[in-house]
Amino acid sequence: MSDQLHVAVLGTGIMGAAMARNLARAGHRVTAWNRSRDKAEPLAADGIAVAGTPAEAVEGADAVLTMLYDGAAVAEVIAQAAPGLAPGARWIQSTTAGPDGAAALAALADEHGLLYFDAPVLGTRAPAEAGQLTVLASGPADDPVATAVFDAVGARTVWTGAEGRDGAASRLKLVANSWVFVLTHGIGEVLALAEGLGVDPKGFFDLISGGPLDAGYAHAKGGLILEGATGNTSFGLDTALKDARLIVEAARASGVRLDLAEAGAERFRRASGQGHGDEDMAASYFASFEE
Ligand code: NAP
Repeated sequence: MSDQLHVAVLGTGIMGAAMARNLARAGHRVTAWNRSRDKAEPLAADGIAVAGTPAEAVEGADAVLTMLYDGAAVAEVIAQAAPGLAPGARWIQSTTAGPDGAAALAALADEHGLLYFDAPVLGTRAPAEAGQLTVLASGPADDPVATAVFDAVGARTVWTGAEGRDGAASRLKLVANSWVFVLTHGIGEVLALAEGLGVDPKGFFDLISGGPLDAGYAHAKGGLILEGATGNTSFGLDTALKDARLIVEAARASGVRLDLAEAGAERFRRASGQGHGDEDMAASYFASFEE
């Protein structure tokens, strides 16, 4: 295709690997790097070139997509990529880094002459694999390179502002995740209570199904809990704990008190301490029980 881009994907975990595959499916040339190379190797079967270093991955790339654990990891990896970065390349920063993290990374973009897009995503493993993410984007909306990348990984792009450095997309992302976590802890506690009181959880789902109290998330996360399948990770519990802490910190910094978010972060911390950190965040359920 004539509008083929070269996109470097740094970080091929649950989300990054899926996004890399969809970029390749859209006809772009993709190079990928991951700290643990074994997680990137399977991408070769999708026509993706696996690089040995971040600098090698970004060499000559029109766009660099970062999808790592947190802002600190992104800063480390961009420093390693520096020798290969081309001034003017787009940096699409999709890691959930929080507004302060987004601002710090925007400053790094300036240092390296990159055009920065604060671009966290909404959606988990399945929508990422299907190319159906919602991209929350701050940066110049008329940029054809960024638009092509967003179109390849997502079904919808919500533009939040023309300046990546103001972290508008990262602020919206934390607001959205605070809702996701309320639902996740909510269904975990509902099912724990039902168990404690000897109530058949099916009775609860029958009560809410199809009515105003229903929520897709209750079925998705509740299903994992009831099937004993929290090991099928879409959104890792330790990753959710990192995001919950970003929410609590951002709220405190803005003078807002969030009791549910603080209690939710504590549930994630407790479940992680019980050994559920690599499982899906639905494992917050276990925080209701002594182990
Ligand atoms: P993941 O599967 O745990 O992947 C994390 C990636 O970060 C891995 O590639 C890991 O490398 C890398 N990494 C961690 N620390 C690093 C460091 N210091 N240096 C270099 N690489 C490092 O997580 P994920 O679910 O894909 O999430 C990635 C980001 O997307 C997170 O910010 C998360 O909050 C956000 N997010 C996740 C979801 C979701 O539902 N999963 C949805 C929206 C947004 P190794 O393989 O070597 O460990």
